[in-house]
Amino acid sequence: MNADIAVIGLAVMGQNLILNMNDHGFKVVAYNRTVSKVDQFLETTAKDTDIVGAHSLEEMVGLLATPRKIMLMVRAGEVVDRFIDALIPLLDKGDIIIDGGNSNYVDSNRRVEKLSQLGLHFVGAGVSGGEEGARFGPSIMPGGDVKAWPHIKPIFQGISAKTDQGEPCCDWVGNAGSGHFVKMIHNGIEYGDMQLISEAYHFMKEALLMSHEEMEATFKKWNETELNSYLVEITIDILAFKDTDGQPIVEKIMDTAGQKGTGKWTGINALDLGIPLTLITESVFARYLSSLKQQRVDASNLFNKSITPITENKEQWVEALRDALLASKIISYAQGFMLMKQASEDNNWELNYGNVALMWRGGCIIRSAFLGNIRDAFVAEPELTFLGLDSYFKTILQRCSPAWRDVTSKSLQIGLPMPCMTSSLTFLDGYTTARLPANMIQAQRDYFGAHTFERVDTPAGEFFHNDWTGHGGNVSSTTYDA
Ligand code: NDP
Repeated sequence: MNADIAVIGLAVMGQNLILNMNDHGFKVVAYNRTVSKVDQFLETTAKDTDIVGAHSLEEMVGLLATPRKIMLMVRAGEVVDRFIDALIPLLDKGDIIIDGGNSNYVDSNRRVEKLSQLGLHFVGAGVSGGEEGARFGPSIMPGGDVKAWPHIKPIFQGISAKTDQGEPCCDWVGNAGSGHFVKMIHNGIEYGDMQLISEAYHFMKEALLMSHEEMEATFKKWNETELNSYLVEITIDILAFKDTDGQPIVEKIMDTAGQKGTGKWTGINALDLGIPLTLITESVFARYLSSLKQQRVDASNLFNKSITPITENKEQWVEALRDALLASKIISYAQGFMLMKQASEDNNWELNYGNVALMWRGGCIIRSAFLGNIRDAFVAEPELTFLGLDSYFKTILQRCSPAWRDVTSKSLQIGLPMPCMTSSLTFLDGYTTARLPANMIQAQRDYFGAHTFERVDTPAGEFFHNDWTGHGGNVSSTTYDA
């Protein structure tokens, strides 16, 4: 038998990807650590398909056409390394291992290197879209050893989501761990989008005292605008969903947000690379803050916290809120692309940002109309440093700014937390300020630690140390960092 690909891992993602591949005419071998799940799958969901089961890695490898293509859809981390180590002795030079899980891109860097030394090709492919995406068309972000791409391209582009123009939401991202890096940024942006929508919902509910029907109708209206997206769509459904007692189920859900860590990785990466990724990082902190439930309840009693609602011009406030949400969202994506650009330069990935936007245009959780405009911006200017400088996005930011200021100032006045909408506005104010007060920080650093500073009236690269107290020496610090 000459099967096209094997998939290891029969949990929700693996099973649905296999069914998707089968639908597209690819012959797939299914394998799972707990082998009973292979038979279970073949006897139930995969019944009457061309999917073949394997009961050992040896059997699986023997069923594949060469070069063999093996995709791991297993728990990220050590499990992936264990499968790779078990596969190596069974494979021949030129065979391909793809990790489609949510792996850390640093691990993928290491795996590409390790396997290439053995003549094997490793691909770290970010897959987004959850169960539904895996089954009917995910966004796939493959990167790693480019020699693998011609062999896996027909399968991946065949099963991926397509844009309205029929373009596949899957393309080669770049070398090393770049595929998983781009997936990590996708997840970080997802955290930001979700937090922004939840801040808008909070403002509607607590500041504007809107009913669930009113909120649902408002999000529906917004979904006809630049905010059109999957996450707004599901928010509409969530607001409309009633519990058995007829009350909105969303209000019965505990307000502590969980996470699996990819947003945190994005924030840590931004700190490592020196990129001010304020919105996504703030959205991770917002989840941490939400998890301090008992402390928040105790503090709200101690502070006697209450929010004074807005009673006048409600319709204008709703319009202003839409502008604030749109502008903040632009900043979130702009920051995400800044981080990708820095990582791409540091790692020589030569990422194509327009293609990245296209891959996210369909299939994934952050899919939206807006990504089409992001793609256009990077097609027009591939080296765009900041998305907000593109004329389409600059015009929106300028148009939305007054309302964005009104909404965030109001939230501060009435004590309603909007960490991402406020911090993104502050970021834009900082980014568009030619002279920030960092001169004071430099002076302080030089004062207490002789860290030296550059002057505005001498050529860049010349450093000075001032004798601030009249009794300091001329020696500047080379080791002490503060
Ligand atoms: P899980 O992350 O729940 O992983 C389950 C699979 O991993 C099973 O096949 C399981 O085998 C295997 N596994 C777990 N522990 C071990 C172990 N110690 N040794 C060998 N195999 C092990 O499955 P999902 O389908 O949810 O996700 C698969 C990958 O895709 C993950 O990396 C996930 O992060 C990523 N992903 C998930 C999404 C989702 O919506 N669920 C979306 C996008 C990506 P066994 O049956 O024997 O326990």
